Amino acid sequence: MDSHRRVVSGMRPTGELHLGHYHGVLKNWVKLQHEFDCFFFIADWHALTTDYETTQGIRASSRRMLIDWLAAGVNPGSTTLFVQSQVPEVAELHLLLSMITPTAWLERVPGYKEMQDKLQDRSQGTYGFLGYPLLQSADILAFRAGVVPVGADQEPHVEMAREVARRFNYLYGRDDGFEAQAEAAIRKLGKKSGALYRQLLTAHQTHGDDDALQTARALVREQGSLTLAEQERLLGYLEGIGKSILPEPQSLLTDTARMPGLDGDKMSKSGHNVILLREEPDDVMRKVRTMQTDPARIRLADAGEPERCPVWQFHELYSDDATRQQVQSKCRGAAWGCLECKQPVIDAIIAEQEPIRERAQQYEENPELLQRIVSDGAEKARDEVRATLNDVREATRLLGI
Ligand code: SF4
Repeated sequence: MDSHRRVVSGMRPTGELHLGHYHGVLKNWVKLQHEFDCFFFIADWHALTTDYETTQGIRASSRRMLIDWLAAGVNPGSTTLFVQSQVPEVAELHLLLSMITPTAWLERVPGYKEMQDKLQDRSQGTYGFLGYPLLQSADILAFRAGVVPVGADQEPHVEMAREVARRFNYLYGRDDGFEAQAEAAIRKLGKKSGALYRQLLTAHQTHGDDDALQTARALVREQGSLTLAEQERLLGYLEGIGKSILPEPQSLLTDTARMPGLDGDKMSKSGHNVILLREEPDDVMRKVRTMQTDPARIRLADAGEPERCPVWQFHELYSDDATRQQVQSKCRGAAWGCLECKQPVIDAIIAEQEPIRERAQQYEENPELLQRIVSDGAEKARDEVRATLNDVREATRLLGI
């Protein structure tokens, strides 16, 4: 398994998905599923870190969210889809990682204090709330995922997973005879590749040459003659940290369009400005028709300015060049009414949603299929995490008597 081809990502089941989720996350997942070995999960444990008192709706939300994913084009034939709590091995890894993670690392995660203030109406002094970034680290490291698709605001969470992996590898990756085993693995590379590895190792360790490190990593990964353990040993040897039992993940910054809400702010459930992914066409029409426009445009004869109008942001996302030019000139020239201007947006959203609604209907009518998708996904996920845990238990010497 090449960790650099593996992606892990999850979503909390906190209600119906909206177009912000579609444009910000799901379209990207659909793309990634053709390029990487993807594991996508319904993060029901994470939902409890803030909403532990209200679990009655969690199952229905999880089911609805799975249908939304599938309807948006996430393909269970290309990805592994599962519910987090159905892979309990991740909890064991979380526990072990909690033993080596300083609490200061958790307290300094950006957003922790703000979130705590925001949720003051509920008691957020829980261990689970403090520890949720570590649970995220366990979610990633359990699958030895090299790639985590995130927005810029979530990058610190991936950084935390990297630090935790580094600390774990440092503490437990130096098994007895590590250097001798690494030397034996270098010999297995053959004369030419072995010499190149040594040259790159020296360049990185004595001169801090990052290019040399990257080249050496690529060299190790493309060696079919090495076992996975030997590859990990050589990768760890490069960085002087011992065997890399838990590979350090990297962020894959998602370059997605910002989805505006009905008021022009970012679309979000808490902002009460959403169009649901499977919103009924009549409701889409009603919501867009009642959207705020340029406040300076009171009468039809008043010239407007698209840059001041939330509807324009929708045109930027949904309309072609010709329509956008028409909007600019007719708005500034007071040549049409706002309802007329909104119609192409309404049509585009409804057209985008039509196949999604149709696919969702098929899944709604087939609960056994949904059950099978997450059962198969959980089995596959458990196999992967069990393999990681075998190495983790061995490295931590938790092997019974
Ligand atoms: S014409 Fe269009 S862009 Fe101009 S204010 Fe009305 S809705 Fe907004």
